[in-house]
Amino acid sequence: LTGPVSQVVRGVAGLQVGSAALRRITEVDTMPRENTDAGTLPASLPDTGIAVSLRNVWMRYRDDGPAQLAGVSVDLPERGLTAVVGPSGAGKTTILALLERFYDPTAGQIRVGGVDVRDWPLARLRDLIGYVEQDAPVLAGTLRDNLVFGAPSAGERDLREVIALTRLEPLVAALPDGLDTPVGHRGGSLSGGERQRIAIARALLRRPRLLLLDEATSQLDAVNESALREVITAAARTTNVVVVAHRLSTVTGADRILVLENGRLRAAGTHSELIAGDDLYRTLATTQLLAEADSMVH
Ligand code: ADP
Ligand code: MG
Repeated sequence: LTGPVSQVVRGVAGLQVGSAALRRITEVDTMPRENTDAGTLPASLPDTGIAVSLRNVWMRYRDDGPAQLAGVSVDLPERGLTAVVGPSGAGKTTILALLERFYDPTAGQIRVGGVDVRDWPLARLRDLIGYVEQDAPVLAGTLRDNLVFGAPSAGERDLREVIALTRLEPLVAALPDGLDTPVGHRGGSLSGGERQRIAIARALLRRPRLLLLDEATSQLDAVNESALREVITAAARTTNVVVVAHRLSTVTGADRILVLENGRLRAAGTHSELIAGDDLYRTLATTQLLAEADSMVH
């Protein structure tokens, strides 16, 4: 067999998640889970991740425009937390946009689960991915509509669990009709932090195998920030989580950090490796990132 569909099947088989995929399709959930961690995780967190690789990826938004990514190559395993840092305009959001396939790279290749993203049926690719934009929108409808959007099979238990995980319980309690209160036309009455937590809850309910988060800088207070860091860390135990990170707290806990500058991957490593080995990272970590972490507390 050749062609996109067989490649997808090979890609999935290659990840040894065939039985998990089959379980989802047949909605039979009596088989024991292969992943021992998953038993201790809330039901609503994803239980398998999917690997990603970028091979010499170039991106120009216009043919005659500047290269916003210039030969980026990196492999991200099926689980763990990757933080992407770098100055504004470095190309951080562009990497997430290419993974979600909002655009195709000008040159190079992006593989998800070993399969070129151009060979995945777009709906299936997007189904694997939970994407939380930097300015996460509130959708029309009720809070419940906002949370279950894209996750029609999420049960009431999953919903309650994700609400607890993302610390949305006080909001639900404060709204006149709780989960059934319309919020879309009043998105403006929600705080930036509430909007971002709603977006993260929405992404988690879809049980993504690749979770992409474009972190907002100062939208969350310290308590909610640390709660969400716990959620992200828990999700990264089993799935592939990529965070465009502005906060030092997110970055120091990451399994790997990618330092982007002018569209190039100038360094990669752990926090201590990069503090020792990369001038730009050291500057970001000791000035910009710390300053933003401080500003959330005060
Ligand atoms: P970062 O997230 O690191 O701040 P981005 O990936 O958003 O950087 O942007 C990298 C560069 O690409 C910036 O110069 C930005 O202006 C440009 N850019 C981003 N999106 C678009 C777009 N849709 N069209 C044209 N240029 C874009
Ligand atoms: Mg950005």
